[in-house]
Amino acid sequence: MATDAFGRRIDYLRISVTDRCNLRCVYCMPPGGIDWKEHDQVLSFEEIERFARISAEEGISKIRLTGGEPLVRLGIVDHVRRLRETTGIEAIALTTNGTLLARYAKDLAEAGLKRINISLDTLEPETYSRITRGGRLEDVLAGMEAAFAVGMDPVKLNVVVVRSLDQDLLGFARMTVDRPVHVRFIEYMPVGDVGEHSCTSAEADGWTEADHVSTDEILERITVEGEAAGLGVLAPVARDDAPGGWGPAMYYRFPGAAGTLGVIAPLSHHFCGECNRLRLTADGGLRTCLFSDAELDVRTVLRTGTDEDVRALIHRALDSKPEGHNQQHGTVRYMSQIGG
Ligand code: SAM
Ligand code: SF4
Repeated sequence: MATDAFGRRIDYLRISVTDRCNLRCVYCMPPGGIDWKEHDQVLSFEEIERFARISAEEGISKIRLTGGEPLVRLGIVDHVRRLRETTGIEAIALTTNGTLLARYAKDLAEAGLKRINISLDTLEPETYSRITRGGRLEDVLAGMEAAFAVGMDPVKLNVVVVRSLDQDLLGFARMTVDRPVHVRFIEYMPVGDVGEHSCTSAEADGWTEADHVSTDEILERITVEGEAAGLGVLAPVARDDAPGGWGPAMYYRFPGAAGTLGVIAPLSHHFCGECNRLRLTADGGLRTCLFSDAELDVRTVLRTGTDEDVRALIHRALDSKPEGHNQQHGTVRYMSQIGG
């Protein structure tokens, strides 16, 4: 079992398999995109799998693949299969924008992927296109249906709430009534180049306090709007009954609903005391906190060192994991380069 200097059990590794993406979400990337890493700067699947094997020996049992967009990397299905077969890895999950999921869902399920998080911030096609700078809502909805069809479970939707996007949250609440989907509203985080303007303004240079919506406010809105729409009274879901999760979401449900609504509050109720994760960037930076730019260079150690060297680096990461994020604003890397 791996524990850090504050006694937290660390059993969850998020791996960004690519910094490339087929979308340009306003809250995640600058309008012009970012310079992709060169091919040789990005870890090969073999290097990631070696790191996963050694991490598993040190106590990691859960892996989430993310990006960039993980489904744009060729060979991702076989990578999932090999990670799934790694001794000590009990489960693999994937976070995707869903646009390519209809194409890959069946193969991913056969490779052993059950848990999927699809990022979708609105159910209105034009707003979706505006948020993602060109994406098509119908592709994501087809991806979600494909995930259900191949039996993925849980199917979760990640909804980043940004005030100036003026999203219709009730539409998601209605969706949970009919479908066994777990919608999680996530507070907008100040990651990347936090400029002076809202990410939705013409200048589009980053995060502003005014765009942050707390989960208390989100819950209040859903409760009031849901009741007014005849969905009944939103009630908390007991931990045992909540969709299995590796993170800090709190879940709620409308009476008789097939799915749930969750909230994730990294800023307003930060959960650093329960943090259980490490993050590996596509170019081999091992991050101990989403908000900390202090990274350990896994790539060099994987390319020049022994398994013992890699093991020592994992322990250095555990020992240096900070106690909390201290409300830091801004990071050197954009979210698409970290993996969320
Ligand atoms: N491309 C994949 C996707 O969109 O699901 C995986 C990578 S994306 C960086 C991972 C998650 O981070 C997504 O759910 C996305 O909505 C979220 N995210 C990106 N920027 C964010 C921000 N500034 N605050 C909160 N969540 C953010
Ligand atoms: Fe791409 Fe995901 Fe970032 Fe959107 S949130 S730009 S889909 S990496």
